[in-house]
Amino acid sequence: MLKYSLIISFCLLGFTSKIQTDEVKSFELGSRLCKVIIKGESENEAIFVSLHDNENTSVIAFKEVSEQINRPILIELQQNGGRNLKYGFNGKDYLIDPNRIFSEIGLENSLKKNNNTYPKEIIAPIKDFASKLLAIILPKSRLNYIVAIHNNSNDNFSVRYYAHSSIAEKTYINPNEDVDDFFYVTERSDFEFFKSKKRNVILQSKNVFDDGSLSVYCGRNNLPYINIEAQDGHKEVQKQMIKEAYFLIKSKQP
Ligand SMILES: [Zn+2]
Repeated sequence: MLKYSLIISFCLLGFTSKIQTDEVKSFELGSRLCKVIIKGESENEAIFVSLHDNENTSVIAFKEVSEQINRPILIELQQNGGRNLKYGFNGKDYLIDPNRIFSEIGLENSLKKNNNTYPKEIIAPIKDFASKLLAIILPKSRLNYIVAIHNNSNDNFSVRYYAHSSIAEKTYINPNEDVDDFFYVTERSDFEFFKSKKRNVILQSKNVFDDGSLSVYCGRNNLPYINIEAQDGHKEVQKQMIKEAYFLIKSKQP
């Protein structure tokens, strides 16, 4: 009996500590579910966000440096392990890029791009999901930052993609750095900071086309935002980049 109650106590203790460190919210995407996992303690400086479920290097990098940077909160979307979320409707799955849901025009363009056809009925519930997600992400004060963590692969886009695009107001490329590792910021002073550190960096244009991404949402709402983008597998670089962004943001605290 003693042995039995010890096992129960142990399980209860384990269960309690898990609830304290990880909060898991579930959202319905039609017949599918999506999890939003909230980890960490401090929301004083920055809220970190991982939207793409297949970009695992960024999440591992974050976890490995978290202790050195005051354990900031990480909000992580999880569903099927892929880049896109699946919305289940009438026995079919429709693909949604979770970083294209923060405006109606962006969402509709992205649904067109990722699906041959889609029913109009799924738009309203996805918009509702986006606003619930923003209600979790949006920081409590204007001095707080939203820091997105992303990974790309060697053959898709890089800092060079932005250099001649209307998305970027300014671009700095260090020829000695991998073009797939870069910062993407909405504040001019942050652009100047990373440039002074010889990091690849893009300043988002104020007139950027609304693609429904979190960066454009932040830009339009004057919320300071940094995206830390690294090539898949560049864990050590991304760890260093996360620390640099964190200490920059911390240095701006009153
Ligand atoms: Zn991504």
